[in-house]
Amino acid sequence: MNQSNEPNTHPLAAIQSMVRACIQCGTCTGSCPNADEMDLTPRHMWRRVIMGHLDRIMTSRTFILCSDCYTCTLRCPRGLPLTDAMEMLKGIAFARQEKKHRHPRHFYEQFLATVRRHGRIRELEFMSRYFTTVRNPMVPLRFAPMGLKLIQKGKVELGFGHATDTPLAPLFDKVAAMDQAAPESAAEEDQA
Ligand code: SF4
Ligand code: SF4
Repeated sequence: MNQSNEPNTHPLAAIQSMVRACIQCGTCTGSCPNADEMDLTPRHMWRRVIMGHLDRIMTSRTFILCSDCYTCTLRCPRGLPLTDAMEMLKGIAFARQEKKHRHPRHFYEQFLATVRRHGRIRELEFMSRYFTTVRNPMVPLRFAPMGLKLIQKGKVELGFGHATDTPLAPLFDKVAAMDQAAPESAAEEDQA
């Protein structure tokens, strides 16, 4: 933690300021539907963030498994923006191109590329894009049994459809601009 007047340039600085008031009560962990699958519980993650353990955090799958349900954010007695903090950890891992999170990054990128193209998800196009990007024949094989079940139940729309001029483009452009401005904002907040 930065105790001087020097700007805190630690990669976790912005997230540290978000969770600094954590009292380690464990409510977030007890509320999280995905905690059993996480290698670091949410409470443990915030402790690691405050301690600045970037390397350990970047090898964790905790933030990748966060499904943005906001339960922890709603229940935290300190009112901390925990879901946003999990999202920021994803952003750091993806920006650093962490090898461990290469597949999830491709998954998110291709999901969003499909939504941008059609204004909604088109499962067949999305999964085709994802499999092409990961370039690992084992990945489609792993997904095959689930894909077949979903197709049988009519949950997957077959066909790629046509790209449409969706009204979502300005929204994606705005998010991209906010992403670019984010490091500056975080540094300013830290100096305030
Ligand atoms: S619920 Fe809030 S205060 Fe309690 S451990 Fe989680 S982040 Fe910390
Ligand atoms: S927002 Fe993420 S970390 Fe929080 S309870 Fe939901 S899945 Fe767990």
